[in-house]
Amino acid sequence: MGPSPPVYLDHHATTPMDPRVLELLHKVQRDHFGNPASSGHAYGWAAAQLVAEAREKVAELVGGTAREIIFTSGATEADNLAVLGVAAAYGPRGGHMVISNLEHEAVRGPAAAFVRRGGRVAIVEARGDGRVTVDDVTAALEPDTILVSVMTAQNEIGTLQPIRAIGKLCKDRGILFHTDASQAPGRLGLNVQRDGVDLMSVSAHKMYGPKGVGALYVRRRDPRVNLVPLQFGGGQERGLRPGTLNVPGIAAFGEACRLAVELLDTDAERLARLSGRLWDGLTGPLDGVFLNGSADHRLPGNLNVSFAGVRAHQLLGALTVLAVSSGSACSSAETAPSEILLAVGVPRDLAAASLRIGLGRFTTEAEVDFAAEKIVGAVRGLRDYSPS
Ligand SMILES: *Cc1c(COP(=O)(O)O)cnc(C)c1O
Repeated sequence: MGPSPPVYLDHHATTPMDPRVLELLHKVQRDHFGNPASSGHAYGWAAAQLVAEAREKVAELVGGTAREIIFTSGATEADNLAVLGVAAAYGPRGGHMVISNLEHEAVRGPAAAFVRRGGRVAIVEARGDGRVTVDDVTAALEPDTILVSVMTAQNEIGTLQPIRAIGKLCKDRGILFHTDASQAPGRLGLNVQRDGVDLMSVSAHKMYGPKGVGALYVRRRDPRVNLVPLQFGGGQERGLRPGTLNVPGIAAFGEACRLAVELLDTDAERLARLSGRLWDGLTGPLDGVFLNGSADHRLPGNLNVSFAGVRAHQLLGALTVLAVSSGSACSSAETAPSEILLAVGVPRDLAAASLRIGLGRFTTEAEVDFAAEKIVGAVRGLRDYSPS
């Protein structure tokens, strides 16, 4: 039996749950419904124990300690808490931040809110290879810069940012450094100590865990990061994220972190090999195929590819056997080329002719070969049809 369409190749948007994670999620959902804040009985203790174990696993994933992990509803909330929490604690009357032009809306949005509240934000532009340079970040710093936020890996073009060098720069200048690492777990080793990271966002559903759960790592020493909470309620998560914890989601997230660490080397190697195979399967038969972003500093498993002479929405229309993304913001009938591709200098016609292909832990060689064959067929069909 061959692959059963539609073949899922959109792992940057979300991932299926690992069966081991799903099993634990079910078990906790069924057997451990206690509130971890109920300190007077065994139901509460069991739930609190599950959360404590998961916190250790998330800490191991990022290289921090359990006390530095704040559970959130996902990376969006973690990013908001990092940016606005630091803004409120360190820049109550304004202040300055630096972000890159490749950041997810979950960082750009709160940075814009910071500006509406009187802050200033410098946006550093990535170079043509999709990477931000340390020199450009350095040049953007000001005497009252309180935070630099540059993502670990870009969610469309997969480019890895020089976060270790940016972390060192920030450390030298006494500026806090936040990185959105949502795309990295299981593809790239994370370590907040090695990389000089003060705040790091992660999301369970990008790493074979459930949706609606994530975490913010918040450094507690060298330096101790102060955050002003955005929400108020019970004192959960050191008062930074009040509300009854999502115990099944958190336990499952912990298991996803354990697997991401355990399987990192084999997963990363496999993903790189499969993306190479897919690239060869496209560029062998077709001319006019361009890789967007850096070839070397790239998430294993990411291919963002433009096909000269076609339009992404037509390509997607011809490729219903694949679940891929156009790398474009599609609204109703219109398709606008991806802002990220335009930002890194991809010409408009090629930006409107791109596919983002994201391979995952369970992607098979047969699925990759099937995808290559279908994409090649669709591109040829559209090129034959097109008058140019
Ligand atoms: C998916 C993603 C987010 C949002 O994460 P949620 O957990 O869905 O809120 C933020 N940043 C990046 C880079 C992402 O890929």
